[in-house]
Amino acid sequence: MIDDIKIKLKQVAAIVDGNKNLLKYKLGISNEQDEKVFAARRKVCNACPFRSATDKCIKCGCPLGAKTRTNKTNCPEGYWKTN
Ligand code: SF4
Repeated sequence: MIDDIKIKLKQVAAIVDGNKNLLKYKLGISNEQDEKVFAARRKVCNACPFRSATDKCIKCGCPLGAKTRTNKTNCPEGYWKTN
């Protein structure tokens, strides 16, 4: 139970961070190198069989728009990793 809560909180923190990075991108203040990494992840997720029609990862339930834009998480299937 406690472990489940910790995992959920970590997931929420990653999604918040991903949305913060998306906002930075929209404001034109994002890091160029990070954007290259995020774009490469996005390409992998777009072609992944675990991507849902609502643009979520079926394996972890995260919205991919945010998940691919944070360095606080990894692909649950190991298709991409945060350095
Ligand atoms: S995070 Fe991994 S498993 Fe999920 S959709 Fe992207 S590539 Fe697929």
